[in-house]
Amino acid sequence: MSDPIGQIHEHDNQAWFHPWEYLPDVGHNQRSIIQRAEGIHVFDEHGQRLIDGPGGMWCMQIGYGRKEMAEAIAEQALRMPYMNPFSLTSEAPTRLAAKLAELAPGDLKRVFLTTGGSTAVDTALRFVHFYNNLKGRPGKKHIISREHAYHGSTYLGATVTGKDRDRNWFDINTGLSHFLPSVNPAGRPAGMSLQAFCDARVADLENKILELGADKVGAFIAEPIQASGGVIVPPEGYLKRCWEICRRHDVLFIADEVVTGFGRLGHWFASEAVFGIQPDLITCAKGLTSGYLPLGAMLLSERLFQEVSGSNANGASFGHGFTYSGHPVCCAAALKSIEIIEREQLLQHVRALSPHFLERLHALREIPLVFDTRGMGLVGCVECRVRPLVESGMDGSELYAFETELGMRIDRHCHELGLMVRPLTNLCVFSPPLVIQRDEVDQMLDILHEAILRTQRELE
Ligand code: PLP
Repeated sequence: MSDPIGQIHEHDNQAWFHPWEYLPDVGHNQRSIIQRAEGIHVFDEHGQRLIDGPGGMWCMQIGYGRKEMAEAIAEQALRMPYMNPFSLTSEAPTRLAAKLAELAPGDLKRVFLTTGGSTAVDTALRFVHFYNNLKGRPGKKHIISREHAYHGSTYLGATVTGKDRDRNWFDINTGLSHFLPSVNPAGRPAGMSLQAFCDARVADLENKILELGADKVGAFIAEPIQASGGVIVPPEGYLKRCWEICRRHDVLFIADEVVTGFGRLGHWFASEAVFGIQPDLITCAKGLTSGYLPLGAMLLSERLFQEVSGSNANGASFGHGFTYSGHPVCCAAALKSIEIIEREQLLQHVRALSPHFLERLHALREIPLVFDTRGMGLVGCVECRVRPLVESGMDGSELYAFETELGMRIDRHCHELGLMVRPLTNLCVFSPPLVIQRDEVDQMLDILHEAILRTQRELE
């Protein structure tokens, strides 16, 4: 393919309706055109090489341009590109299901393959409803989520997403979803200890279950680290205590590991290895194929599966699934990506590199514009605030406009300097490919440091 640059922009503006399209800009967007990618780098239309700071969209684990991935995908596409998953079976999805069951914590031995993260979340939520219907508890349907959560863009995924920006102008069925306050320690009231903050956020969950009635609450859904909500790392012990509350009240715990799975935090799954919990359901996607092809999965506890199977099934079938559930080519890509992560010991690599990445990230706090830095494993975020720096000169709305644009401004400077970041209002988030090396982490953070300084100078 070799369309001229102008034509790509024209088609982009005239034909492609993008995800999260900011509609006032339609018709005159000049998005960067990414022409090719190699290792941890992408190359734009001017041939400029950029470190891929966000790792695609939190999904690029093994790096770009892997020949053996392309070969595995081509081999499967030639041999058998599609198979009806409702009534047939084949090698790639069965092998992948068995592999995921092996990698998963606890008794999460049943694997439902989906087309991505949102459909994995939908599958989990629909399973919770199905399960309680079958068990004769049709009232046990409410789902508890949290502010800043992102669980996908399908109707049901959006229903438990706790960010207004992602729900404004749509209709959602709010009757079944409930949102607990943010668990961002940086947002706690001045003077409140981390322990007191953790106690309060844990109590929120128990209080909400008691308020609704445990017989009405089907599940609590939580990303171990809230990723697109701003890389919110909960206070130590929070998740485990929430999990214990769920068990006490017979509420299912869904860990949404779409971002935290497949090595992002140095383990296949973070739930047990990092947070010491064994969820009833785990949803995953993204790093499952390293973003080479779309695929997601819901991992389900064998105990729950047995409760709705065989003589317990009461004649029911689980009437849910997708034409592309267990797509053989996507499964072949996932198997190859997992094989590479294992062979190259990328989980160990992330665990070894993470302290340096976090040290460099937190060092950015010395810049006055930086309000907070957060991270874990190979995921991080820098949050900037203008307000404390500006004593006069700008009125409230100017300040607000400037602040919400901070991420974009930093991104522009980063781009000039050779780094792509993911700007989210006044935040920049990072989840670089897991294959990134120590000197490349330094390069990435040197650029970010300079870009924030340049942005700060724009205030002066
Ligand atoms: N869950 C989490 C935690 C996510 O971060 C995302 C996507 O960013 C999703 C679900 C939705 O995944 P997808 O975009 O593959 O549908």
